[in-house]
Amino acid sequence: MANNITLPPNLQDKIHTDADAIKAASTDYGHIITQKPAAVLFPSSVEDLKTLIGFSFNSSVPYTVAAKGRAHSVHGEAMATNGVVVEMTSLSKNGSKRIVIGGDKASGFYADIGGEQQWIDVLNATLQKGLTAVSWTDYLYMTVGGTLSNAGISGQTHLKGPQINNVYELDVVTGTDFYSCVLRMSSMQRKGELVTCSKQVNSELFYAVLGGLGQFGIITRARIVLEPAKTKVKWFRLLYTDFDTFSKDQEKLIAVNERGSGEILNYLEGLLFMDPNSLDSFFLPEDRPRIASLIKRYGILYVLETASSYDDRTKHSVDKKLHQLFKSLSSLPNIYTRDVTYVEFLNRVHADELVLRKKGLWDVPHPWLHLFIPKSGIHAFHNGVFKNILLKKNFTTSLVLVYPMNRNKWDDNMSAVIPDEEIFYTAGFLDASWNWKVFDNKNKEILEFCDKAGIKVKKYVGYHDSKEEWINHFGSKWKTFQDRKNQFDPKKILSPGQKIFN
Ligand code: FAD
Repeated sequence: MANNITLPPNLQDKIHTDADAIKAASTDYGHIITQKPAAVLFPSSVEDLKTLIGFSFNSSVPYTVAAKGRAHSVHGEAMATNGVVVEMTSLSKNGSKRIVIGGDKASGFYADIGGEQQWIDVLNATLQKGLTAVSWTDYLYMTVGGTLSNAGISGQTHLKGPQINNVYELDVVTGTDFYSCVLRMSSMQRKGELVTCSKQVNSELFYAVLGGLGQFGIITRARIVLEPAKTKVKWFRLLYTDFDTFSKDQEKLIAVNERGSGEILNYLEGLLFMDPNSLDSFFLPEDRPRIASLIKRYGILYVLETASSYDDRTKHSVDKKLHQLFKSLSSLPNIYTRDVTYVEFLNRVHADELVLRKKGLWDVPHPWLHLFIPKSGIHAFHNGVFKNILLKKNFTTSLVLVYPMNRNKWDDNMSAVIPDEEIFYTAGFLDASWNWKVFDNKNKEILEFCDKAGIKVKKYVGYHDSKEEWINHFGSKWKTFQDRKNQFDPKKILSPGQKIFN
């Protein structure tokens, strides 16, 4: 018994209710919301997850269960007030990495990865075999289960789709006994069940879980697509002083990339600089005064960031092709370049993390906002948000990402929600401040502006304040999402921190 909830007696040794465990499970990267669970489970096997969920399912007063990966959520999504938080990373505490590589050249390579594994470990393990995942996130110290519950986007998304589109198969512990439901067993006989699913087998569960915000089950294994890895990356930044030209060139590159299957550039993002003192470490000290003066002069500097991975075999041809391609763009004449290893490139945000940690600026509140914006609204969004809110109201120190992707690289059967246009942009407002309410209000103003301007944005990794807002978010997908919830987690046990059904 913990805080008035009855927990499975056979998990006693692995369930912690001490102050340290509760505190660690009550907070996340956002540092905005605090919600205390009654207990924290440190599982040592998938069987423990089945027991925990099954016990709740069969209880007259079910408790909620939240899988917690690295808690890199920002609004309590991996929390469970008075329920049980599962420290997923404890599944690999016994030293086993739970990453197994399989397949062959003819049929394609894959990796079977525990849902609790971090992407950095996936990178290191696959590179040992000369292979790599095809779609990444910018930051790699998050779990496979955590990012697949959202989508997993980055500069490869326009080419390969989000991470959820590069999954062959999943093992999932659902919120009900999947098989006994099929066999019509009584509810008392049911238990959280481990189900293997793919596009071919148990497809409804597969599609539900990918982008499913943890609502349908806990991912304990994902089989993901791998491809041969290159060893080095040429990493570029091209500067623009005008948004129209910048976004046209971004769209041009994603179209070129699509036609050439990413042969030349395999990553494309974009970012804004509005504060001459906030330039990041990509730019060399000798280049900074010139770039800072552009920001002072134009207010916003639009930076197209792209990259091309190569190896000894392709070293020379890559330069020639890039030269041709960049000649067709309308950026300012200077192109800023870095030549780095493949790992340095993919793990680039970690270098910033170390600097921020040193300055005590990593564990501060993060009032983040991530949006998907349909292409038809991106110019109004630029004027209304970047110019009239960020620049005019002096939110110039924000790190703002903005880049386009294609709808046809997403699978509409999956739970993730994106705008209803072939090209849409993502914009991330990545603030960090103890004064988080000011930024939260700014985010509300951005959403109000979009609403008034009729720009049909969708939140990514975003919270909503009410069920109505969630229904609005899912739009035509709501009924399917709700039906799937009733099928796979009818007692609303899982991921209560998303506040969709709880
Ligand atoms: P958690 O925060 O622990 O959990 C998130 C949700 O998933 C919760 O609802 C939880 O219950 C559920 N969940 C966790 N594990 C499982 C599981 N095994 N099975 C089922 N449900 C589970 N996102 C991008 O797409 N691209 C980026 O480039 C990117 N960069 C980021 C950089 C930083 C510094 C941060 C803080 C976040 C970033 N994100 C990015 C957002 C990130 O993808 C999500 O917040 C993701 O959920 C974090 O993974 P996590 O392991 O910390 O999940």
